Amino acid sequence: MSASISKLLERARPEILAMQAYSSARMEAGQATIMLNANESPWAPAGSGDSELNRYPDPQPKALRTRLAELYDVAVEQILVGRGSDEAIDLLVRAFCHEGRDTIAISPPTFGMYAVAARTQGAAVIETPLAADFSVDVDAMLARITDSTKLVFVCTPNNPTGALVPLATIERLATALRDRALVVVDEAYLEFADGAMSATSLLGTHANVAVLRTLSKAHALAGARVGTLIAHAEIVALLRRIQAPYPIPALCVDAALAALSPQGVAQAQERIAVLLSERGRLSRSLPAAAGVLAVHPSSANFLCVRFADAQKTYKALLALGIIVRDVGRYPGLAGCLRITIGSPQENTAVLGALGLQEVAA
Ligand code: PMP
Repeated sequence: MSASISKLLERARPEILAMQAYSSARMEAGQATIMLNANESPWAPAGSGDSELNRYPDPQPKALRTRLAELYDVAVEQILVGRGSDEAIDLLVRAFCHEGRDTIAISPPTFGMYAVAARTQGAAVIETPLAADFSVDVDAMLARITDSTKLVFVCTPNNPTGALVPLATIERLATALRDRALVVVDEAYLEFADGAMSATSLLGTHANVAVLRTLSKAHALAGARVGTLIAHAEIVALLRRIQAPYPIPALCVDAALAALSPQGVAQAQERIAVLLSERGRLSRSLPAAAGVLAVHPSSANFLCVRFADAQKTYKALLALGIIVRDVGRYPGLAGCLRITIGSPQENTAVLGALGLQEVAA
């Protein structure tokens, strides 16, 4: 295990490995009661009562990290909290990919930010299209991966197809790429996957697996921007060196802790159950709508639907105030719209707009 993480760490950019982590004033505060080391205001801002908003927040808020470790059933040292999982994607690419030389591997159609982060860093993107049934073609992916490939992104359930990637597929990739590349498993939508097991279950045996989770979807906190990377503690420490000094605003920490209280989690579970039942209702109903060619099976909180004339449907929905995502430009998704599962009323509006009456559950 430890041999395996040290070899993988050698694959990170040497200049980052050599860097000292920035030590922020808040990290040095210790037990002090008169805090004059961070050029903060001694008074709370107007309208915030006796909040501590005049103080910089904890760079990795202890209570939140502890709660996230409990939620995801991993050790606190394996948790990096960031500004949405988007930030973790960016940090990984910056830490591992040398500009103009290194590459990442993805299987499109998939979430767009992996490629955006790579291109921003000057890293090329090796693309291996998903198979026709939207499964990841591991052999084709491995055949294209070279020594320059540092990160392999697997999104499960995948955005925008909704398909779940079996753990065995992820394990095959991790085994084949041991000591060579980090397999980053993006589980932004895993809570909607009917109890599917997280790739965190591979962390004990595969140091080259990292998992992304977010509070933006199932926990209804997209506005607070709280994402988590779960990985070997040494990878967490590596990314801390290049992360912004105070990535999580104090107000967002409070909102996240409230959402993750026992009542908050119970409410999230009830809402997930509603969304799963609604996903079933839409999946059963939509095939009967004029112009619907296919409703792809989904393990996420959206459906990828192929229409005979997606542009016409998109415009017709928009005219009724309903906006969906046109994903037709993605390879293999011509004519597809991605429809988020909304509240029961919102979903009924979608069915009505497509000329369907409600289908009883
Ligand atoms: N991964 C996937 C697959 C996503 O679809 C999204 C958001 N659309 C993200 C990550 C980013 O999530 P966050 O809000 O945590 O940055």
